[in-house]
Amino acid sequence: MLSIVIPVLNEEESLRELHRQIVDVCQSNAINVEVIFIDDGSTDTSWSIISDLAEKDQRISGIRFRRNFGKAAALTAGMNAVRGNYIMMMDADLQDDPAEIPSFLAKIDEGYDVVNGWKERRLDPWHKVYPSKVFNWMVGALNGLKLHDHNCGIKMFRVEVPREVRLYGEMHRFIAVLAHARGFKVAEVPVHHRPRQFGYSKYGVRRFLRGFLDLLTVKFLTGFGQRPQHMLGGIGLFFFGLGVLGLTYLGVLWILMNTLHVFEPAPIGGRPLLLYSVASLLLGAQGLSLGMLAELIVANTGRERDTYSVSDRTPFVDQDRPTVD
Ligand code: UDP
Ligand code: MG
Repeated sequence: MLSIVIPVLNEEESLRELHRQIVDVCQSNAINVEVIFIDDGSTDTSWSIISDLAEKDQRISGIRFRRNFGKAAALTAGMNAVRGNYIMMMDADLQDDPAEIPSFLAKIDEGYDVVNGWKERRLDPWHKVYPSKVFNWMVGALNGLKLHDHNCGIKMFRVEVPREVRLYGEMHRFIAVLAHARGFKVAEVPVHHRPRQFGYSKYGVRRFLRGFLDLLTVKFLTGFGQRPQHMLGGIGLFFFGLGVLGLTYLGVLWILMNTLHVFEPAPIGGRPLLLYSVASLLLGAQGLSLGMLAELIVANTGRERDTYSVSDRTPFVDQDRPTVD
């Protein structure tokens, strides 16, 4: 089964049409599908449309947030509820074309684990397109996974991927990078980018800035085997090592001068190196123990609390469906 997860913020004009298009393509291609709409604090009639769709079509279900928690939180909530073995993420504004679903599935059938969309001909204004190009280049350069369009919202992946790659915060954007780092096979399919028909874009420059911070985090995560706390310990170890080296050197020198009299006897207490070495040793010991502490905490606490709060759910057809929040 294919589970489609769709974040919704004030998309009342698009929802019914989107539903129709998804159902059409899945019916004509014999795709067993469920669609989970996550209403991310809409203030229009989006939720009542979702409830209505869910009532009439058992393939549809909905989760409603108490307020706007952001697209990332919406995707996380959706992923926590999926039952299919393939998961697809798609925007609600009809910019992503449900007619592309079969070509994503075809790539999965070829054996790929993550299939990213690639908006070959983007319809966005230049101030969105160019930062995005720079961004893609940087992601590729930092992570060794060269894709045309890391930010494309439409993607499909096997359910094993989010089971292994923890997707917290804004990490859903980097599924391809994180999955690639773990050895999953990643592919790209060109998609049509349709203009927004209704409503307006909910994003601006802020999202772009956040993207750069996320990029650093991803580098941090993949670069340290997904265990950033290793870095603390690593830095600690480095300084500890420096301190040990410095003190060993001074110790040997002291013995050579004052015990074995190989050199002219002289005190070593006034050397700057002594100060540096002692400081480095202490600093290193601190860093090491902090790193170990962090390691313990990370190892013993499970997943962090989800960053959203659910106020409503459509009745679930399948009562066995896990409803983890
Ligand atoms: N969205 C959301 N919460 C938000 C912002 C956006 O759920 O806080 C949804 C929105 O309804 C749409 C998708 O995320 O389905 C992408 O948003 P948008 O189309 O505004 O972004 P753009 O396509 O302009 O990058
Ligand atoms: Mg859009």
